Amino acid sequence: MLGKLTRWLRILGHNIKYSNDLDDAELTVIAKKERRILLTRDLELYQQATAKGVDAFYVEGKTEAERLAQLAERFGIKLEVDMATSRCPKCNTRVRQISKETIGEKVEKSTLSYYDEFWECPKCGQVYWRGAHWTRIRKTLEAAKGNVEKLRKKN
Ligand SMILES: [Zn+2]
Repeated sequence: MLGKLTRWLRILGHNIKYSNDLDDAELTVIAKKERRILLTRDLELYQQATAKGVDAFYVEGKTEAERLAQLAERFGIKLEVDMATSRCPKCNTRVRQISKETIGEKVEKSTLSYYDEFWECPKCGQVYWRGAHWTRIRKTLEAAKGNVEKLRKKN
């Protein structure tokens, strides 16, 4: 249920495990064993996990910007993308910067000529750059920051 939020948190540099296949008991065990914070939109799971001593967070909010704001407020997450610590949204591996010369056929020629900085996921091979979607990423993060301010005023 939180696939989109997972991708966001990885881009922001957080080590996020995501699964739709595990049942509540398995999720709780993994969270406890690996000392992870369990993020869920399932109130029952949240309550079960908390009762078992797992650090859990019940995610509310309709938009990604609202959800990110809640997490930022609760866990002090920085709402900035730092490519030095950013993770692959697909597979959670830290991306690394690569030189244009080594990209080869992985990216279209027009993209290569237009952008200078590229990053690659060493695990799945996905190449990233700050393309047109980057404006949208920044807008969402700005909206999230605005929401953090609102949350602080409320409390
Ligand atoms: Zn990857």
